[in-house]
Amino acid sequence: MRQPVPVEVLLPYALERPYTYLSERALAAGTIVVVPLGTRQVLGAVWEQAQQAERPAQKMPTSRLKPVEEVLPAPPLPAPLRRLVDFVADYTLSPPGMVLRMVLRVPAALAPEKPLRALRLTGTEPERMTAARGRVMEAAGDGLAWTKAGLAEQAGVSPGVVDGLLKAGVLEEVIVPRQPAAGVPKPDFKPPHLSAQQKQAAGEVRDLVKARRFAVSLIEGVTGAGKTEVFFEAVAEALAAGRQVLILMPEIALTAAALERFASRFGAAPAEWHSEMAPKQRERVWRGVADGSVRAVIGARSALFLPFCELGLIVVDEEHDGAYKQEEGVIYHARDMAVAYGHLAGFPVILSSATPSVESRVNAARGRYRDIRLAERFSGGGPPAIELIDLRAAPPERGKSLAPPLAEALESNLGQGRQSLLFLNRRGYAPLTLCRHCGHRFTCPNCSAWLVEHRFRGVLACHHCGYEERRPDACPQCGAEESLVACGPGVERLQEEVETLFPEARSLVLSSDLAGGVKRLRLELAAVARGEADIVIGTQLVAKGHNFPNLTLVGVIDADLGLAQADPRAAERTFQLLTQVSGRAGRAGQASRAVLQTWQPMHPVIVALAAGDPEAFYHAEIDSRRRGGLPPFARLAAIIVSGAERAETEAYARALARAAPRQAGIDLLGPAEAPLALIRGRYRFRLLARAHAAKRLHAFLRAWLAEGPKPRGSLRVAVDIDPLSFL
Ligand code: ADP
Ligand code: ZN
Repeated sequence: MRQPVPVEVLLPYALERPYTYLSERALAAGTIVVVPLGTRQVLGAVWEQAQQAERPAQKMPTSRLKPVEEVLPAPPLPAPLRRLVDFVADYTLSPPGMVLRMVLRVPAALAPEKPLRALRLTGTEPERMTAARGRVMEAAGDGLAWTKAGLAEQAGVSPGVVDGLLKAGVLEEVIVPRQPAAGVPKPDFKPPHLSAQQKQAAGEVRDLVKARRFAVSLIEGVTGAGKTEVFFEAVAEALAAGRQVLILMPEIALTAAALERFASRFGAAPAEWHSEMAPKQRERVWRGVADGSVRAVIGARSALFLPFCELGLIVVDEEHDGAYKQEEGVIYHARDMAVAYGHLAGFPVILSSATPSVESRVNAARGRYRDIRLAERFSGGGPPAIELIDLRAAPPERGKSLAPPLAEALESNLGQGRQSLLFLNRRGYAPLTLCRHCGHRFTCPNCSAWLVEHRFRGVLACHHCGYEERRPDACPQCGAEESLVACGPGVERLQEEVETLFPEARSLVLSSDLAGGVKRLRLELAAVARGEADIVIGTQLVAKGHNFPNLTLVGVIDADLGLAQADPRAAERTFQLLTQVSGRAGRAGQASRAVLQTWQPMHPVIVALAAGDPEAFYHAEIDSRRRGGLPPFARLAAIIVSGAERAETEAYARALARAAPRQAGIDLLGPAEAPLALIRGRYRFRLLARAHAAKRLHAFLRAWLAEGPKPRGSLRVAVDIDPLSFL
């Protein structure tokens, strides 16, 4: 008999290294197995031996190792994916097991797909014929393969009748092959006629794909420039070379339109991947990506961890979008990890945006990324003319949101039968409800946040933890009746104002808390694109990527909203958001306007927007980051300490700060109470580490967290490398 061999198995838990088990035969790295852990049986993946000497000194004697219980038939996780798991763990300071957990999220996909059994007629006549049997035979006579339940339903009989026919040999069971999870895209299905500038750009990205080497390119061009058609050319090249392709999108609502465009270019829809998919479909996509039958995926950030076996290109569309950052669990940025993946596995990565992140802009300027520009809109129309409304000179009426010049612009656009968009980044009816009588403010019991009124549903809701209560008739503090007032605007309230001003206009609110979820949202977006609304009122959800051909006026209710947040990225975020939302206007080539209401018309971000001069903005912003020692000229890491007791949490955060090793070139700020001091009943304190070299930052954090006091009880420490949020 052969000797069992030790194998290293990484388990999807918060464990720092693989555990050793015994296997009857050597197992290839990446093989998915079931192993005992304590009293449980758990999934794991065979992993390479850790190379460093940091493995435990006393090796477990072979006699005490437990055996691998089962080897699953799924294809082993490919080597590039294993390297990505190790890299993400290392970069984010997360246990590798927690990153593996993101890969193994669909355990059902690890078993082979159950064969689909279907019924069909054999040609044998039943000895005994009844009306019910006749109906079944008639239904089955269409030549299609039926499931038992489907056939019974179609014939309007009980399943017993179908069983009877099966027993009598009139029907037989056959195994039918499943439809693949996605069709096979054809690189040359319907190539576009590219404009001269598109041709030039497409040539560059095609060459990078042909070279089969790591390279990052940044495609930058105003909304409507035709960036999608350009990166589709790179996709075609990769597909033709027999490689798989991943296109990342920041928002699920966006993927619907992208799927259609992909299908019309390549003759088959790609597989879709996001959190709202049906479990069966997830399983099938996971398997198809692993066995190579799925050639292209369009998905949200988590698609990065699918088990691609021949990945040859990643496109990150709207690369500047904050939705690429996962803020819980393993805190990672999907764009940055996509670039790292390309580097590890040796394939090109394309970033695309009308408003690139400052990071990517700087990387392009330094020559680390290929800089590809599309200067004009494909339709030939110019960008929308941007006008400012100085709210100090032309304020809206008390309690209203629309300044008179914006109301006039709406009226004239309506008169011409055109569509308008009002942008207000506040969900619900009003951000604050208070009692006029005693001043009571409605706040969340679990978070340091006001409750937002959602009048449509009649509730007051917390946007941080999901807490909800019914809006009462009387003040819970003083008992006064009819004393509650809504303060500040939300999209629902804005719609009320619009309906009063323009009772004839068809208005529609689009925000992420639309009842009916993504499905409904996609339907509404398609309806808007068909011109079935005159005035669309939306949150940041409408700012992104959508194509509304009849839209020629964008009104921004509060251009200053994002600037009020005092964090290092407030200016960048505001610039991107307002450029994107303005860019919704005039996509089909018509003359268009964007009107921005502001209290600060002299603010540099607002001035750059009004001048239509993005270069001025980037120039000033990059300069100020350089002078301020902010990313990308320095690296930041946020350390968030949270706990159930405020005093204990603060004391621990202080002790942690005191334990930090002193190191030249690294500053540590804090602890300070977080702006969101309480979330879901947990008190929060923040520390911020800043370093001038990324490597130094990681070494510092590792040494500090290894030697510093350990969190006990309810205390938790989360590390956020390259933080986007400072709340
Ligand atoms: P972007 O991604 O830069 O915002 P899109 O790729 O969505 O721009 O293009 C804007 C519009 O122009 C789309 O409706 C698209 O179908 C159209 N378009 C772009 N390039 C071409 C082309 N080469 N041929 C035909 N239509 C194009
Ligand atoms: Zn809350």
